[in-house]
Amino acid sequence: MNLESYIRDIPDFPKPGIAFKDITPLLADKDGFKAAIDMLAEPFRNVGITKVLGAEARGFILGGALAYTLGSGFVPARKPGKLPFDTTKAAYSLEYGVDTLEMHTDAVVPGDIVLVIDDVLATGGTAAAKAELVTGSGATVAGFAFLLELDFLNGREKLGDHQIVSLIHVA
Ligand code: AMP
Repeated sequence: MNLESYIRDIPDFPKPGIAFKDITPLLADKDGFKAAIDMLAEPFRNVGITKVLGAEARGFILGGALAYTLGSGFVPARKPGKLPFDTTKAAYSLEYGVDTLEMHTDAVVPGDIVLVIDDVLATGGTAAAKAELVTGSGATVAGFAFLLELDFLNGREKLGDHQIVSLIHVA
């Protein structure tokens, strides 16, 4: 299956100079979505994942499906002020801005083995912030899974020596 054919490039969104990778055609296709989730899960099936961590909004869609197929829990990371209980925070810089992610303080606990999911690995700041939320809770990062990696931004250099799975590479 050619997953790349389901991903649409939107030039100059949300800012001039950014080629936005729109994954909604992939999500809308029953075969494409299933294949993508199965391929993201495969390398992590036998490593004892207890939780998948994903950030709004696309990380919720992919992360929920991934957690279901891995038989793990799902933990949402959200923009500031969205989560109702006590939170821990991690700041990060984006390809197009700066922001903070929050996670409930009791969502990840020591002993958890956590898979971090997102649709796109760009500069790596967001994924590194999620990893910080995990390790700051005393849990272990099992690895990172992405639909698509923008290789030219070298985001994986921010992610240490963890296993990184990207289904599509953009040179
Ligand atoms: P970064 O922290 O730079 O790795 O950015 C990753 C986050 O920003 C992910 O949540 C992506 O969904 C989003 N993102 C960054 N660049 C793009 C892009 N070119 N197309 C789509 N999403 C992007």
